[in-house]
Amino acid sequence: MKITIHRGAHQIGGCITEIKSDNAKILIDLGANLPDSNAKELSETDVAELTQDADAIFYTHYHGDHVGLFHLVPKTVPQYISKGAQEVMMCKYNALKAHGDYSKELDALERFHHYETKVPVDIKGKIRVTPYYVSHSAFEAYMFKIEAEGKTLLHTGDFRKHGYVGKGLFGTLQYFVGNVDLLIIEGTMLGRKGEKVIRENDIKRNTVSLLKKHKYVFALCSSTDIDRLTSFHQACKETNRNFLCDIYQKSVLDIFAKYMEVELFKFNKLFTIHKLHTANPKIKAKLSHEGFLMPVRASQIELIKDMLKAYDDEPAYLIYSLWQGYYKGTEKQVNPQIVELRGLFPDRILDGVYDGFHTSGHADVKTLEEACRILRPRLGIIPIHKEALSSYQSLDIAQEFPIIESSEQIENVEIVIS
Ligand SMILES: [Zn+2]
Ligand SMILES: [Zn+2]
Repeated sequence: MKITIHRGAHQIGGCITEIKSDNAKILIDLGANLPDSNAKELSETDVAELTQDADAIFYTHYHGDHVGLFHLVPKTVPQYISKGAQEVMMCKYNALKAHGDYSKELDALERFHHYETKVPVDIKGKIRVTPYYVSHSAFEAYMFKIEAEGKTLLHTGDFRKHGYVGKGLFGTLQYFVGNVDLLIIEGTMLGRKGEKVIRENDIKRNTVSLLKKHKYVFALCSSTDIDRLTSFHQACKETNRNFLCDIYQKSVLDIFAKYMEVELFKFNKLFTIHKLHTANPKIKAKLSHEGFLMPVRASQIELIKDMLKAYDDEPAYLIYSLWQGYYKGTEKQVNPQIVELRGLFPDRILDGVYDGFHTSGHADVKTLEEACRILRPRLGIIPIHKEALSSYQSLDIAQEFPIIESSEQIENVEIVIS
């Protein structure tokens, strides 16, 4: 069996892993580089070269750094994702259609095949891939157990333990995955050891306190992060505030509700607002009497300005529930729209991790170590999705299991096991 880390061994995002056994070949993720990357992105020809002889591509989840190049894959190559993740992607690209030509993306999405948690997919009788549901800052994220040539490996994708469904993580590893020969594991938080990792439930609690004090709250967050939206929605339920959404956000929440059976994830205190309705007298009377929290995206800045004008009897607050790099990172990381949006709320921002309104989508270092100890990878650990300078070598588990990583920042890290 040959494992090639085409990308991701020395960077966060742009993940591409290849697994080859006899005449069968699969890829796990085909991610685009993150916007702040200096590396040249793969062209359509590069993607065709890399994927045309693949028997399948499996995506761990719908974040662009894992799925971003999917529309460049030749039509003959089957691509797999979960049904719910496919629907969220469809929803996003259907909305983007208003701003450009996304027919290639939508065509490719139509052709996607589905996998389900705990149901193995067999590739030519040579490679067996079994997905397991994990907690991440996305709806429907999976890790993959891969069996080939009598060996077992686990590819974790992005995962964490501190989300709403994270409690099940160690149980899944212990009872469904078991000991493995090789572990391909993410290491995002290795480079952010100082960052406070708080539980989603604490974000909910902090939001409840805020909503008790202030009537109008906007929350800048990812429109597809089910846990974060759940935290805000639950806080609205507890304080009897309206959970305000635009049409796009509502359609994403409808997908979540369709697939999640648990009551926690049912968005039933939802009030949908259209741009034209911001100052409608009936709606205005209701919202200014009951108050609201509205999850927003940076692109909605004009709507937010209209809302601030219409609801000006009390100052509105902004929950900043995203990564801080978007407003105080490097020139390439900073998003000018986000900076402008923050400027609308001078001295009225509840700021991310610092104020307890954001938490990482990735496992903290303790969880990474514990996962390694449960899985006991006999042949070693292959770290991916981590910064070039952060390493598993500095952790205690490096004494217990071989860490397979190259000190040079080379692409195409190849590991052959027999
Ligand atoms: Zn990622
Ligand atoms: Zn992700």
